[in-house]
Amino acid sequence: MTERRGILALADEPLVARVVAAGGKPFHARSLSRWVLQRGIDRFERATDLPKPLIASLDTEFVPLESTLAEEKRAPDGTHKLLLKLRDGETVETVWMPQREGAATVCISTQVGCPMACRFCASGLAGVVRNLEAHEIVEQLVHARRVGPVGRIVVMGIGEPTLNLEATLAALSRATSPEGLGISARKITISTVGIPDRIRELAKCDRPYTLALSLHAPDDALRHDLIPTARKWTIADLMEATREYFNASGREVTYEYALLGGVNDRESHALALVRLLQGERGCVNLIPYNSVRDTEFRRPTEADVYAFRDTLRRHGVPATVRWSKGLAADAACGQLRIRHQAS
Ligand code: SAH
Repeated sequence: MTERRGILALADEPLVARVVAAGGKPFHARSLSRWVLQRGIDRFERATDLPKPLIASLDTEFVPLESTLAEEKRAPDGTHKLLLKLRDGETVETVWMPQREGAATVCISTQVGCPMACRFCASGLAGVVRNLEAHEIVEQLVHARRVGPVGRIVVMGIGEPTLNLEATLAALSRATSPEGLGISARKITISTVGIPDRIRELAKCDRPYTLALSLHAPDDALRHDLIPTARKWTIADLMEATREYFNASGREVTYEYALLGGVNDRESHALALVRLLQGERGCVNLIPYNSVRDTEFRRPTEADVYAFRDTLRRHGVPATVRWSKGLAADAACGQLRIRHQAS
């Protein structure tokens, strides 16, 4: 375990207090945050406008970033997958995905492991270890920005963000603040397994983040079979909560639907989904299943994927297909972490 903490573990006020205690001025604290967050410095001495005694004092107790890059994989499509080692030796994944136009999208994690145990997902195979702290989430963005510019953030990595809402929102505030990373809140999507009360809680934060709801099935029986931990909630509860989210945020909801060959990808499922979503505002994002070791599912054929999408579209439900990026880099949720643990 590293003794020294990452400086981003200090929120604004404690950071100013620490800098002043070391003989610095409040503006030095702001400068320091910018060096670490925006420039991603690896040693305080690289912050050339800070007084030397302040740097010496910080060095005794802190490091710029407490997470380190344990492994980096690059896929042929340009996706970079980062495995970050945390202060206590646990690992999380962050993925930097180039876009056809503009800056990259970064996918960040919010927990070490995940308690939701969706049957087709690698992240929940071994349960949850702990929540990430806000600065551990922010540090993922700093590491990603070392790969290249970041224009969008998707909170779709390991973990269920609404079960670590406070830290997730604190991290996103730093990501959106002009003093922080200055990424527009409209370019941030939070993906949730769908816990109605937690969605309402998120609506209260009053930020225009896009909500992505992991629906995966048009009826409760199939959904509960795929996500046994979601048995307490019905799809009707979820639709009600997402409507409230839309009313509060003005942002249309995205419905995520992992397409599992032969399980939820038949035309009857598409038609049931049409009936469920008729009259709702939002679009469906189809994710052809990425094969995960130790799960019994299979990827649907390309023809089945497009047939499903076209059935939705024909009935007026907007739908897109997200072919996972960086398959060669084990980019599907939780796969690099799992492989790392097994190796
Ligand atoms: N806990 C959040 C974030 C998880 S990951 C949530 O449940 O939404 C983001 C999306 O990828 C979720 O919709 C998740 O169900 C989906 N996913 C996970 N593993 C997958 C796999 N092997 N193939 C396709 N989609 C997967």
